[in-house]
Amino acid sequence: MKNLSLIGSTGSIGTQTLDVVRRHPDRFRVLTLTAGRNADLLIRQAQEFHPEAVVIADVTRYAEVREALAGTNTEVLAGKDALCEAAVWPGADTVVTALVGFAGLASTVAAIEAGRTIALANKETLVVAGSLIMPLAKKCGVDIVPIDSEHSAIFQCLQGEPQGSVEKILLTASGGPFRTLPREALAAVTAAQALRHPNWTMGEKITIDSATMMNKGFEMIEACHLFGVTPAQVEVVVHPESVIHSAVQFVDGSVKAQLAVPDMRLPIQHALCHPERAALDAGRINLFRLGALHFEEPDTERFPCLAYAYRAAEQGGLVPCAMNAANEVANLAFRQGMISYPRLCDIILHTMERTPVVAAPTLDDCFAADKQGRAIAEEYL
Ligand code: NDP
Repeated sequence: MKNLSLIGSTGSIGTQTLDVVRRHPDRFRVLTLTAGRNADLLIRQAQEFHPEAVVIADVTRYAEVREALAGTNTEVLAGKDALCEAAVWPGADTVVTALVGFAGLASTVAAIEAGRTIALANKETLVVAGSLIMPLAKKCGVDIVPIDSEHSAIFQCLQGEPQGSVEKILLTASGGPFRTLPREALAAVTAAQALRHPNWTMGEKITIDSATMMNKGFEMIEACHLFGVTPAQVEVVVHPESVIHSAVQFVDGSVKAQLAVPDMRLPIQHALCHPERAALDAGRINLFRLGALHFEEPDTERFPCLAYAYRAAEQGGLVPCAMNAANEVANLAFRQGMISYPRLCDIILHTMERTPVVAAPTLDDCFAADKQGRAIAEEYL
């Protein structure tokens, strides 16, 4: 039986994690659940899973949650700092980091320092502070097991392989809803169009990041930190069917890939069960019905955010952190219909160009760079 803290239980990854827990009551028990604002769903989750504590980050919803859970054994906490309390809850083995954006950094750091295994969905943590997070995890003897489907695929391909045997990582990308649109048409795309992802149903922020390919840039940085490779060793391969979730090419030319129908419950369950595997009654691949799989090179003219991410990864220091901050500002503005897609890209580049690299930053530097990056992006916006 593994005891879980689930940070961000009301989101796309959070609800799918609970679906995995629901299917394996003999394997998993949830000790804490946290939500941003969605009090209704948090209450229903608490009534079903009976956690020891829940956190509602939005303090204005505290009374509502406390009242609904009065008379139960669930403690109700509120506010941003309580997210860290949930992440270090006594008795938990694994913390699922399913919160979106930079807001996920503090609770992930707290969980690592408390020695919890991390089932990592919040990729922004590694984008903004990967050079600090990985050594911290090592120092604390903590495993970080990826939930992101691509990184789960790479993680699975690497099992049993000797260190130093990786030549490159083939990071697959669906290409998103705008994969085939010409450059001129991209200037007029709307958030509603961007939110119609061809293969995955996800939270709004990551769905927009997928449409702009910023998400793939983040994943490239995430892969560098998780698997100890350089940006030049990560090749993005557009693969519209999203059946190959990523592959690893080894020094002898052998390539191992992981294939499955696109269903996030598989990588979530894999991360929670590791090093075991459990049955999952999700779909199965039928190679005869698939017939063919397709691969394309990414087009960084139409999707410059991918190129920005490579540039940020090469520069290192605080640049990836500023890039992430600008993306959070621009992504939201695009969702609100305030800016066009080209302008979104422009805001990110503008912010990166005004950010000093700063070698070997501290966590405090990252928090400051996030603030500064947001300020630059908002002013430009
Ligand atoms: P969602 O937007 O669906 O969910 C985010 C969760 O975080 C919700 O529970 C939300 O609460 C909570 N939250 C948001 N902001 C805050 C805040 N400031 N303070 C406290 N809680 C907050 O996101 P996803 O589930 O799609 O993504 C989560 C993470 O997983 C992201 O980093 C994403 O990149 C990554 N990921 C997601 C995948 C997917 O398929 N969705 C695939 C691979 C990675 P509430 O809703 O109650 O406000």
